[in-house]
Amino acid sequence: MTASLSDLKVLIVDDNKFMINLVKRILDKLEIAAPLEANDGASALERLDEAAVDVIVCDLNMPGMDGIEFLRHLAGREAYPAVILLSGEDKSVLNTAAQLGQAHGLRVLGAVPKPVTREPLEALLEKVGAGSQERLRSEIESLTPEEIYKGLERDSVELVFQPKVSVATREMVGVEALLRWRDAERGLMSPEAVIPVAEESGLINALTETIIRKAMAQCGAWRADGLDFKVAVNVSMHDLDRYDFPDFVVDTAEAEGVDPSSVVLEVTESRLMADIAKPLEILTRLRMKGVGLSIDDYGTGASSMQQLRRIPFTELKIDREFVAGAPDDNEARAMLVSSVSLGKDLELPIVAEGVETQIEWDLVASLGVDIVQGYFVAKPMPGEAIEDWIGSWHDDGN
Ligand code: C2E
Ligand code: CA
Ligand code: CA
Repeated sequence: MTASLSDLKVLIVDDNKFMINLVKRILDKLEIAAPLEANDGASALERLDEAAVDVIVCDLNMPGMDGIEFLRHLAGREAYPAVILLSGEDKSVLNTAAQLGQAHGLRVLGAVPKPVTREPLEALLEKVGAGSQERLRSEIESLTPEEIYKGLERDSVELVFQPKVSVATREMVGVEALLRWRDAERGLMSPEAVIPVAEESGLINALTETIIRKAMAQCGAWRADGLDFKVAVNVSMHDLDRYDFPDFVVDTAEAEGVDPSSVVLEVTESRLMADIAKPLEILTRLRMKGVGLSIDDYGTGASSMQQLRRIPFTELKIDREFVAGAPDDNEARAMLVSSVSLGKDLELPIVAEGVETQIEWDLVASLGVDIVQGYFVAKPMPGEAIEDWIGSWHDDGN
């Protein structure tokens, strides 16, 4: 792809008219003609509906919808232009914002500090053509076992964290750690490209250990900053195949200054377990050590009901399949309603996953769901971004 700079379609988003003109002047020198303009996030989204754009040059601080929120909205759309951030904030804020955008799966090329000058902007604009429309690569491509094996040694495991909030108090009560795999050649890959292959090739135990170590280290860092909430980690049924797993979890948590009762393991039943005795013993031992156990993706498995009776779960997590469709789809709604009522009967806190809209929030709240997780609240983000997110969530009146 050798598209020249002058072919780029640029959208400038800044509340300051002077700044827009300054960027336009620089673009003019680079022979980039007729950039689009918007004064805030909302009108930027309107511009994007009207015309195709290759790259957005976006201010971080704007009244109304700021740059951070704008990135979140952008990630929910079908076409994602590349993004260059502008800000008078210091470098660390810009870096965090860039990481946040990347965690959303956006192509954030980098950040330019204000006052904007030609060289850094030009350098970033030159990257646009290099790999248009690069997003999380997942369904299409999986990693090979060899790539996973090498990646584990090369520190390819990254975690992002998605808030879980109480419906009653709107406080953040915990986060779920989600895997992102950074491949040297292919960029950031989704867990679906990694987990199934790891499970089949016997690498899942090493992968889960790495994930638990990273999640506990992050949790220890939050504790040191005075932040106290639960951290959930997904485990595969294959992880419940080792008698030393409970000790590994507890020792890793304690080594980072994390109380095991702050740790939740989300367990999905991927298939009917031929021999339930071993996982049952392991889960019971984890529970005895204070670790929380969540039955994940509830409603999608084959014998979920049966498992609920046998395993000492502390939380029931309804799969997003039944949440997303519920307002319009009778079958999804029926699954949602019956899952909630089962959770109530078993006196388990109920989490609704994948809440994306106010309508879905209102529906699950009216049904008595205790905790919500979903894009409506926040997308998964890097660990360092959580503290700021809590602040902005409160500032928004929650
Ligand atoms: P999950 O455990 O059901 O995790 C929730 C998934 O839903 C996450 O996808 C999350 O990003 C996504 N999600 C959350 N809210 C919304 C929403 O409002 N709308 C939509 N459309 N999606 C939402 P992700 O991160 O791609 O993870 C996919 C699955 O991969 C997870 O599903 C989990 O089964 C597995 N996974 C992720 N991280 C790990 C891990 O560290 N270990 C293991 N064993 N599995 C993992
Ligand atoms: Ca989960
Ligand atoms: Ca799910």
